[in-house]
Amino acid sequence: MKNYLTASISASAVRHNIAQLRGRVAPGVRLCPVVKDDCYGHGMEVLYPVLSGLVDGFAVASPVEALALRQKGWHGFILCFLSAYFDDFMVQDELVWQEITQTVMSKSALASIQAAAKRVGKRARVHLKVDTGMGRMGIPARQAPDLIQAIHACAEVELTGIYTHFATADEADRSAVAAQLEQFASILPGTAGLVRHAANSAALIDFPETHFDMVRPGIAVYGCHPSAHLRNSLELKPCMSVKAQLIAVKHVPRGSRAGYGLTHEYARDSRVGIVPIGYGDGYFRCLSNRAVVRIRGLDAPVCGRVSMDQMTVDVTDIPGAQVGDEVEVISADPAAPNCVENLARLADTIPYEITCHLGHNMRHVLIG
Ligand SMILES: *Cc1c(COP(=O)(O)O)cnc(C)c1O
Repeated sequence: MKNYLTASISASAVRHNIAQLRGRVAPGVRLCPVVKDDCYGHGMEVLYPVLSGLVDGFAVASPVEALALRQKGWHGFILCFLSAYFDDFMVQDELVWQEITQTVMSKSALASIQAAAKRVGKRARVHLKVDTGMGRMGIPARQAPDLIQAIHACAEVELTGIYTHFATADEADRSAVAAQLEQFASILPGTAGLVRHAANSAALIDFPETHFDMVRPGIAVYGCHPSAHLRNSLELKPCMSVKAQLIAVKHVPRGSRAGYGLTHEYARDSRVGIVPIGYGDGYFRCLSNRAVVRIRGLDAPVCGRVSMDQMTVDVTDIPGAQVGDEVEVISADPAAPNCVENLARLADTIPYEITCHLGHNMRHVLIG
């Protein structure tokens, strides 16, 4: 972890985003943010105190993340998406003991949860995951009724919910979501009393008919839009900014080049700033010669290839730029050229991948 790199996480932005999302769902619909991968790189350590007062539960990917939330003191609902660790009885037992709601998608998963419940002497709670077209986790919809029967027949396991996940809710074409929804709806008769849920951020924003009893937004909680097409549909505030400092500034004559492969040539006598962040810290190498950082409120283009732990930026047009200046690597201003959504576009990826990668190697600080 590098102390000289800081991800500042804005509590007020997260509160704003949660309020916006709550405003979209009917009263009584439970809000269960997805906090997998350390809150998409934003840092559970700093966000837990903010989120825990605003939500009805948490959804995580791995058992380890679920247990970490209990460790933090969360006594409420936790849904774990993945039922890995089939061969690790200690983890299986701990999940039951700590009342983590597990995902079931097969009879073998059911059998292993049942065995853990027997060992622990406590009833396990599960949600059934139905694959309605995404082709990932979940039992095919037509086999769901059979698995529901099997769970009901199992005294040690209590079925408390049923859910699915959309593959295309962030796209303009609405037909695939409609088809998935229809499949999901077809298995809901007879599931009264279960918590039914389906909506990720995009579905929450764009498909009110998917809200059911609970919603599972991830990226929108952190202030990014799930896709460019949804950018104007809800006002969100990005909650992360990433800062470094200029560790050196030097003059280079016209014609000098920069970085591995010498891919940049300075067209004039220039001043170059060294920023101690690179692809090892999650600043993608494909942003070389494309992105900008901000220093003293002005844009400084990334010149030459991004290295593992450092990169060079052109500060010629930034009067007074000097060692120690703050470098805003990522801006929380959604209109800035170095906002997460724009960097994602430049890197030909999605905002999720940018924040997940940037989160891991730096200090996280909660700001107001
Ligand atoms: C990651 C995930 C979500 C959240 O998706 P966003 O697009 O970030 O809102 C919801 N449900 C499941 C099953 C997921 O894996």
